[in-house]
Amino acid sequence: MDPTLPSDPDSAFISHAPGHWPREAMNHWSDYKWQLRNRVDTLTDLAARLRLTDEERAGVLLAGHKLAMSITPHFFNLIDREDPACPIRRQVVPRIEEGWSAPEERADPCGEDSHMPVPGLVHRYPDRVLFLLTDHCASYCRYCTRSRMVSGVGEQHLETQWEAAFRYLETTPQVRDVLLSGGDPLLFSDVRLDRILTRLRAIPHIQFIRIGSRIPIFLPQRITPEMCAMLKKHHPLFISIHTNHPRELTLEARDALGRLADAGIPLGNQSVLLRGVNDSVDVQKALVHKLLMCRVRPYYLYQCDLINGSSHLRTTVAEGVAIIEGLRGHTSGYAVPQFVIDGPGGGGKIPINPNYLIDTAPGSVTLRNFEGKFFEYPDPSPMPPAELARLHDKALGMCS
Ligand SMILES: *Cc1c(COP(=O)(O)O)cnc(C)c1O
Repeated sequence: MDPTLPSDPDSAFISHAPGHWPREAMNHWSDYKWQLRNRVDTLTDLAARLRLTDEERAGVLLAGHKLAMSITPHFFNLIDREDPACPIRRQVVPRIEEGWSAPEERADPCGEDSHMPVPGLVHRYPDRVLFLLTDHCASYCRYCTRSRMVSGVGEQHLETQWEAAFRYLETTPQVRDVLLSGGDPLLFSDVRLDRILTRLRAIPHIQFIRIGSRIPIFLPQRITPEMCAMLKKHHPLFISIHTNHPRELTLEARDALGRLADAGIPLGNQSVLLRGVNDSVDVQKALVHKLLMCRVRPYYLYQCDLINGSSHLRTTVAEGVAIIEGLRGHTSGYAVPQFVIDGPGGGGKIPINPNYLIDTAPGSVTLRNFEGKFFEYPDPSPMPPAELARLHDKALGMCS
């Protein structure tokens, strides 16, 4: 064992390059275009690098008509090749279970398609919209909530109507918050992103813009100083990243997040609760602590959506509640995300919390703290009229 490595490598910020690529790859490692060109996206390429199980081999073949496989060299190197149950591997290597849809599963589990006033624009909440800019990502998550339209190989295609979408935003003054997502918006060129952000910024009622992206994790090399300088012109701009396991926070990811934070961009993280990936308090705690060290505030922990072929990755809701119980009070409040379920069929995000309000009686409530101790908190008492009169008299006495 290498004595320079900490005892738990998942808790440390380390680079995994070049890992399973030849030494010469280091000449190109920080070039995001090289990373994109060298993604692992065929069965031959994958089988040459990993000893595949029969379930994975079948999964890759089936994925070709559903949600493509694609893994950047940077992310691929986080896979522990000795561990068939590796939490990184489970997120990006297709498995045969994806081919079966459980009865509760859907292609569009959150009912997005029925909330699109314009193709590519989801308007579910009164004051904010989700703007789907692209169907491409640097790598594809096997539990993707938009797998029906992402990656370009499935039955449905994203056909964002740009002019109609901008027109809708310009003429809908209740929209004050625009969330850019997809696919991954940070795959666009700086020039193209700048043009989109400039157009949105020209709309007076749009106060707040945010971008949802997994690029800082899948392809941190893309977060260039030039990109940060461009993004900085469009404040107030927030970025929500997507990280599920502490190992994903590499040295390169931490540096990329630092560049975004230095550009004044507040960073949040969205995790999806996944069986065999991050379904324990220990893993979640290591993740949220590492996020804070990267200047990222844990924002949401999502119960996995009821997406077709996801039952092997989903947990019960009770397991999510137990994770929040294990964090709240036991660690920094800043480290605790809000656990949510995106309501099946289109209910929006519904917060799910452990129950700390044990009883509400007339006059007081009974509470439970993180240690399981009970506390009474009484309602406010009305001031007695005699006391009011006494204080009036006292105040009068003071001015004579
Ligand atoms: C998640 C989401 C948003 C943003 O929700 P917040 O709770 O404000 O982060 C907006 N629109 C849609 C359709 C969403 O799914």
